[in-house]
Amino acid sequence: MSEYFDLSGKVAIVTGAASGIGLACARSLLAAGARVALADIDVARLRALTAELGPASAPVMVDLMDPHSIGRLVPTVLDLFGQVDVLHANAGSYVGGPIADGDPDAWDRMLYLNINAAFRCVREVLPHMIGRGTGDIVMTSSVAGLVPVVWEPIYTASKHAVQAFIHTVRRQVAPNGIRVGGVAPGPVITGLLKDWPKEKMDEALAAHSLMEPQMVADAVMFMLTRPRTVTVRDLVIVPQSLDL
Ligand code: NAD
Repeated sequence: MSEYFDLSGKVAIVTGAASGIGLACARSLLAAGARVALADIDVARLRALTAELGPASAPVMVDLMDPHSIGRLVPTVLDLFGQVDVLHANAGSYVGGPIADGDPDAWDRMLYLNINAAFRCVREVLPHMIGRGTGDIVMTSSVAGLVPVVWEPIYTASKHAVQAFIHTVRRQVAPNGIRVGGVAPGPVITGLLKDWPKEKMDEALAAHSLMEPQMVADAVMFMLTRPRTVTVRDLVIVPQSLDL
């Protein structure tokens, strides 16, 4: 990938960088020459990763469920690297299943992480990016942000909110030289799928409709490396076999 994508000199923050899609994106950003703040709550895994990912990466402990912790994220990264060129607001969680059996407390936690925390991260980074007149924000949405996925109504609602946010904020900050894009994957083989209903997992496995995190990372890198005159809005990444 690095021969195609050059982000040398850039600094990126990736939330949810300790596993799954975030980790694949962090690896790709590093391969392209960027310095990367690995922002996650899983400190032990972050520490293990720094040895593997090298000195251009730095673990940054953040609890995205805590607004004060989010408030410390950008200042910490500025202390470490001096600038922020890219925010990948990626961390999220999943709750699916029939609405009648749902646990509203679990919904609340997921909604906070998928929506409020992601929006707060964007808010925190914007003054810095606006001050520099440049920056890229990528948010991990989902196909569930584009179409109604009936067996996961609350997750679908959370990702529709992310999509609406992307489309509105993109226009607000474009005059400041900041690009905002969304990446909307179908099912990706990550820890998040542990919370999928079993029958859906069986279906997906039978239909070969699961993807590797690297496919999403490649799409993110494609977005970030387009010339700034080109607008890349949202990239939807689904396996050919996925029946939406
Ligand atoms: P994952 O579970 O592998 O990774 C999520 C990461 O977020 C973990 O490293 C976890 O430690 C971190 N995290 C969780 N709570 C946190 C908190 N409070 N503070 C800081 N970090 C926290 O899942 P993933 O599949 O890589 O998910 C990444 C994003 O991709 C999510 O927004 C998810 O909705 C989206 N997505 C996933 C799929 C899929 O099928 N896996 C499909 C579409 C979209």
